[in-house]
Amino acid sequence: MTHPSLSAPNVLWHRISPQETMKPNERCWCGSGAKWKKCHKYREQQQPINIFEHAVAMREKFAEGFCLATVTHGSYCGANAISSHTIQRRGGLAAISEQNHVLTTKFDLEDLVKNHGTPVLKRVSTKKASTFPGFCAIHDAELFEPIERPGATISKETASLLAYRAICMEYFRKSAAVELDKLQRKMDYGTPFPIQAEIQMRCAASAYGTQLGMRDAANWKAFYETMMAEKRYEDFRYYEVRFSTDVPMVMCGAWQVETDFEGNWLQKLGTTSSDLEHITVNLTKIGDSTSAVFGWAGTKNGPAREFVESFKRVPDDRKSSLIASMAFEHSENVFMRPSWWDNLTADQKSALLNRIPNGTASRMRSANALLDDGAHTMPSHVESTLEAI
Ligand SMILES: [Zn+2]
Ligand SMILES: [Zn+2]
Repeated sequence: MTHPSLSAPNVLWHRISPQETMKPNERCWCGSGAKWKKCHKYREQQQPINIFEHAVAMREKFAEGFCLATVTHGSYCGANAISSHTIQRRGGLAAISEQNHVLTTKFDLEDLVKNHGTPVLKRVSTKKASTFPGFCAIHDAELFEPIERPGATISKETASLLAYRAICMEYFRKSAAVELDKLQRKMDYGTPFPIQAEIQMRCAASAYGTQLGMRDAANWKAFYETMMAEKRYEDFRYYEVRFSTDVPMVMCGAWQVETDFEGNWLQKLGTTSSDLEHITVNLTKIGDSTSAVFGWAGTKNGPAREFVESFKRVPDDRKSSLIASMAFEHSENVFMRPSWWDNLTADQKSALLNRIPNGTASRMRSANALLDDGAHTMPSHVESTLEAI
């Protein structure tokens, strides 16, 4: 089955036409929605802003968060959020930590500038790792109890909770990214018109992608909530692979499916075709061993199913290493044991780090993104698999 997005035309997302002068009351060319006289007319004379200071203020605002649990149809609980772990601190995170610390791919604007645009891994305490302020204490404990309890096993009910949590985190991140995009549009204060034009075109491109991503995440979130409330799991599918070897990585992520593990496109982002399917991946300790759980709600033979089928065809002794590549390629919520990273070769490290900017406005993803590159980064012994597809 071929997804319509593969043959649909690209959306002309960055098509804004910068204009040096406009009628004062016309909507500004930048797409802000404001009148020109209130937006770009005097942009060159405006005081440049310190983008980092603003980013810090914005992060503080988002650090407080609010509970995303839907209490009645269409309305959020909205209570103050706690720092919810997307990966259990005493389970998955504890298993890979050293001196209560792990490494992560998550970095911010300042880190990126400091390292001249080259991503490096960051050391974080397990207390702070994998958290997001998306649920209040009550909902966090109540909603996820079935996957947090000792001896938890994978079923449609528990796998859909893992998937739901990944989607909520993605939704939360996208909401923050939308705010950051708005902030970046102010980076042209005090610059001449040609620079304004360039900055606004770049912002328009990235903002478009973020907004689409947020809309999809909101739709999936609502879908899961209805499914769980009605306990009707027929459209939810999962595949679990259990490893008998120690896996030095944990992750929890959700994204739009793009390529499979064999070098084929399954869906294309940024086209006029919507209804893209998602995949969620949780790699963590479940019960006594480490499992990778792929979960999705979608059509029986759609792109998400094809994605998982191509992973099933990956030889068992390569599955862990390919999960590592996939984690760097698609997720920002990945945590690693420090000594594991230290023991990789320089080539293996740079190959993994190089994946981080893929799929952003600055670097296109290739069809071969998830094709096996032969790097043996993680030992892999598959103990068993379980599926409901
Ligand atoms: Zn403007
Ligand atoms: Zn709540």
